[in-house]
Amino acid sequence: MDDTFTLYDLKVEVVATDRPMVCSHKVGDYFLVQGENLVFPKDTSFSMYSLSALLPVLPAKQRPLDPNDWMLSDTEIACPDPNCGARFKITRVGKRIQSHGQCTVVPIRKPERENEV
Ligand SMILES: [Zn+2]
Repeated sequence: MDDTFTLYDLKVEVVATDRPMVCSHKVGDYFLVQGENLVFPKDTSFSMYSLSALLPVLPAKQRPLDPNDWMLSDTEIACPDPNCGARFKITRVGKRIQSHGQCTVVPIRKPERENEV
């Protein structure tokens, strides 16, 4: 039985706004999301406070979404410091085929009814 599913790889990049950045962000700093992994370029850093604002959004952005879902249209996350003007732009940069069996030991369970989860 085919147990594969598709996730998008993501790029999360610091972008400027008309407000100054007060944290250690630098425009163009980025990291990648590949499957369950965050991949940081060599010799770069990323604010843990900013990461805390981004983490809840990343798994949803990795998955196919309804075209009407705001999670699809909204691509920038604000820095959690209210005095900082930085934004973090999330871009889908590729697709990755994942195997259910390589992600979990819980067996695949097909819902019996359409609305059942
Ligand atoms: Zn900031």
